[in-house]
Amino acid sequence: MGAGKSRVLHRSLRETPPRAVGGDGVWLIAEDGRRILDASGGAALSCLGHQHPRVLEAMSRQASKLAYAHTSFFTSEPAEALAEKLVGHEPGGLAYAYLVSGGSEAVEAGIKLARQYFIEIGQPQRQRFIARRQSYHGNTLGALAAGGNAWRREPYAPLLSAAFSHVTPAFAYHEMRAGESEADFVARLAAQLEAEFQRLGPDNVAAFIAEPVVGATAGCVPAPEGYFRAVRDICDRHGALLILDEVMCGMGRTGTRHAWEQEGIAPDIQAIAKGLGGGYQPIGAMLAGASIVDSIRDGSGAFQHGHTYMAHPIACAAALEVQRVIDDEQLLDRVKDLGRQLERRLTERFGNHRHVGDIRGRGLFQAIELVADRATRVPFDPSLKLNQRIKAIAFEGGLGCYPAGGCVDGRSGDHVLLAPPYIATSDDIDMIVDRLGRAV
Ligand code: PMP
Repeated sequence: MGAGKSRVLHRSLRETPPRAVGGDGVWLIAEDGRRILDASGGAALSCLGHQHPRVLEAMSRQASKLAYAHTSFFTSEPAEALAEKLVGHEPGGLAYAYLVSGGSEAVEAGIKLARQYFIEIGQPQRQRFIARRQSYHGNTLGALAAGGNAWRREPYAPLLSAAFSHVTPAFAYHEMRAGESEADFVARLAAQLEAEFQRLGPDNVAAFIAEPVVGATAGCVPAPEGYFRAVRDICDRHGALLILDEVMCGMGRTGTRHAWEQEGIAPDIQAIAKGLGGGYQPIGAMLAGASIVDSIRDGSGAFQHGHTYMAHPIACAAALEVQRVIDDEQLLDRVKDLGRQLERRLTERFGNHRHVGDIRGRGLFQAIELVADRATRVPFDPSLKLNQRIKAIAFEGGLGCYPAGGCVDGRSGDHVLLAPPYIATSDDIDMIVDRLGRAV
């Protein structure tokens, strides 16, 4: 292998990105000295930015005490404290935290927990899961089967479980009909979900799974008012569980710790990751209600699960400190304020742009959608790979932004997703929009 050629298999097995050698708050530093403003927090995870001294100190303290103890022999101080921090106050009835190493693991743990729960309570026929098109729940085979992104699923379709079916997402910009009110749109989606329960047989459905604000595949799409209340009602009526995937939109990203707090409902099972550890360590968690967990613990006790690195002490110490910093520095209020500024600045900059069809999101989780024609909302030809080109041009201009989705279904346009660290300043937000404006 010639000089300069990398032995690392990178994400797509093709491109070798530049090396990152340092981090400094909202900035990432490349090997050639360039400073890149991390406007997407990586993939919406770096909520405290890079090299936060309190998190580094917590990790190093834990590493010098105990780096690892296998969870079949031991629990650990940071794991207990993190679980207490996450669910000690039982938010929305979530009472237990199953600590894993990332989002896909958290989603799959939730799916298996739901399945095991129905076996325990004498409803083993509940084997079906309903998800939504244009969703992303992870890249491992179980999580990929749940996801509704046609382009990602296609090559691996023979390996994906047929237990998952997919309904229309609550994506107003593309799915709402001309002249339809938001309430009618919600009613139509609810009727479609109800019809899917009936098609499968309501007693055969274990759970409905959705992202409260859809991230990577659609670009920060919140549901219209009332949608999640309607979904919750349908699940309750049929005795099915509601699993919310807050891997990307959770842990403060939208201005509340959990995005579902803004929907007036709570899930039975929830997946979190990214912002949980803020990128300092690989960590995720599946949160679940007491009745679900206790029925398994008091029943067969048969949850055939577990990962070698689950509840890793250094990862838990890092996540605990990330969450403490968010509280101590009242960063959720800051997310709300900066989020309003980001939305306002995006609207000023792109509101009249002839190729920006939609600007949307919540808190510090905002996206623009690019379309060939604003009137018809027709996307650009996918072969142009427009969002990837904007990412590359923005990067040259010192801005790291995330090319979400990108005409994956031949209908929706290219998205550019912004998810800056919660510690960003007002000037950083202005700089993000200016640099993105130049790139677009
Ligand atoms: N669910 C959602 C909503 C996500 O955005 C992601 C990651 N982008 C995942 C699950 C998978 O998480 P991970 O990459 O940590 O496995």
